[in-house]
Amino acid sequence: MSELRLEDYDLLLIDLDGVVWLENKPIKGAVETLNEIYGEIEIRFVTNNSTRHRREVAEALRDIGVKWAGQDHIITSASTLADLSSAMSIESCFVVGERGLTMELEERGISVKEEGEVCVGMDRNFDYQKLTVALRNILAGRLFLATNEDRTFPTPEGPIPGAGSMVSAISGACGRPPDIVVGKPNPIMFLRASSQVGAEKPLVIGDRVETDILGALRAGMDSALVLTGATKELGRVRPRPKYVLRSLRDLLTSGE
Ligand SMILES: [Mg+2]
Repeated sequence: MSELRLEDYDLLLIDLDGVVWLENKPIKGAVETLNEIYGEIEIRFVTNNSTRHRREVAEALRDIGVKWAGQDHIITSASTLADLSSAMSIESCFVVGERGLTMELEERGISVKEEGEVCVGMDRNFDYQKLTVALRNILAGRLFLATNEDRTFPTPEGPIPGAGSMVSAISGACGRPPDIVVGKPNPIMFLRASSQVGAEKPLVIGDRVETDILGALRAGMDSALVLTGATKELGRVRPRPKYVLRSLRDLLTSGE
């Protein structure tokens, strides 16, 4: 395994759940590390979590002590899906998801109602009624758009069903997969963040091989796997990350 030297990179694309926090509980050493490296290198937080608006994510980061975090440091699968929907001139969406997704869509002038393209993210109030409305919209020819397909979501008490569970239920009902999934491992969020910053050598840091590490590979970027979330040991995981970190704190000691 290679030794990570921060000076080899000009942008860190850092995942949140399982890397910086579990729900809102900070992972040991993460906050101090982020504050220490801030100013040395550009940082963007790139998350598949669609439940909150970027502004709320930034607030939550400031609440745990990452005082410099602002909305512009955050890219979520919800903001990305909303950008894409806007670029596609979509006018209305039926949302299976939480307020983060609804707010991002409405902010771009897209109305959220019963009839529309179906936008699916993690939804802790998912039920049979929503499944039925989603199914009928898709059968009527509407697009089936998903924020991400993470099967589970890490919490301090253990995993809970993630957006992938809602996507699977809807896929099962309508008999086809989503038309677009914007979240990792789709590299679109990494590529957009990198081009916004003008970075030439970004490093992706995340806890999930099938999203963060695979997404980095597809974006042509180096990656570091952190063992504080979904992945507890390197084992035989594929694809292989370039680096493995026991926690984000290993960034501080790397290269010394
Ligand atoms: Mg994660």
